[in-house]
Amino acid sequence: MVLYEFRKHIQSVDATMGLRRYQAKRSFSHTPEPTGEKSARTAALREPKFVIQKHAARRLHYDFRLEMDGVLKSWAVPKGIPCEKGGKRLAMEVEDHPLEYREFEGTIPSGNYGAGTVMVWDTGTYRVLEEEPLSALKKGKIVFQLAGKKLKGQWTLVRMRGGESGKQPWLLIKTGEDMKPVSAKADDRSAVTQRSMKQIAADADATGETERPARRGTPRSRPAPKPGTASRLKLDSELKKLRASEPRFVPPMKTQLALALPEEGDWVFEVKLDGIRALAVKNDREVRLFSRRPRELTTAYPAIAEAVRNLAARQLVVDGEIVALSEKGHPSFQLLQNAKRAGRSAPPIFYYVFDLLHLEGRDVTG
Ligand code: MN
Repeated sequence: MVLYEFRKHIQSVDATMGLRRYQAKRSFSHTPEPTGEKSARTAALREPKFVIQKHAARRLHYDFRLEMDGVLKSWAVPKGIPCEKGGKRLAMEVEDHPLEYREFEGTIPSGNYGAGTVMVWDTGTYRVLEEEPLSALKKGKIVFQLAGKKLKGQWTLVRMRGGESGKQPWLLIKTGEDMKPVSAKADDRSAVTQRSMKQIAADADATGETERPARRGTPRSRPAPKPGTASRLKLDSELKKLRASEPRFVPPMKTQLALALPEEGDWVFEVKLDGIRALAVKNDREVRLFSRRPRELTTAYPAIAEAVRNLAARQLVVDGEIVALSEKGHPSFQLLQNAKRAGRSAPPIFYYVFDLLHLEGRDVTG
């Protein structure tokens, strides 16, 4: 029974792994992009969808996405989609995106990951030929047929050798027959809203989408996202019942050795993550990270401090583990150690939070 529960937990962890890199790269209070969850919907009863988004980031590129396994498998294609038979374009595999991203058109404010205007350039359904989509993906060769508004016909994605973690190069090849090239006019027109890149950017400016502050500002420059008023009031009154305290370092609970698993009581099983235990203390704009000793870790993991700073609460203390994930999504202490010296090719670092110890001036430990 206990083992079964444990298994279930591991499976649920695996199921959400696909979007962790997507979520870790973004600060959702500062970008209009969807937060996203892996969808349990299966595509078995209908044709899966594809989307190509034209993205005027630091460098213009086209993001090619195929709905697969509850997420959008994604490639960035710098030179656009080839139309002439035999035409090949580099397609860099990037992090999975949530299904809702298919409808995302707008502007990612400056200072955020992927800042720039995004257009839904083409959308429709696709079909993988001769194989199951997932096994084709794993094998590194996907032959598919697109039925989009602009693109129709067959293409092939082939994985190339080499590349670093999370930056696998593929080739997008026009196979089947030639397609009439997309005109310059159609190239600058959204498949959904018919807007040009300029119009999308102008509309985002008009609605203030691009003005969401994305840099470290003064304390009041960034309003915290507002939860529903009713739940906010309830939370406030619940918090008032608790002991007042200051947000500060609290020695984290340690694991205990035991010979047997407990068989009764209200236990929750957690996966052991092999990383660095860290407590984050936020007091207004000041965020400090501590190891359990405690030793200050703030300057060693500035991205994590920044992520905690962006949390909606004014004061909090959370307990968690700083972890580096391998290409397969497994925590690796070795990778985390190497990350300090790796510089630009460093693997993404995650902060898994599993406990809240302090919130808005109150001690919330049990
Ligand atoms: Mn992009």
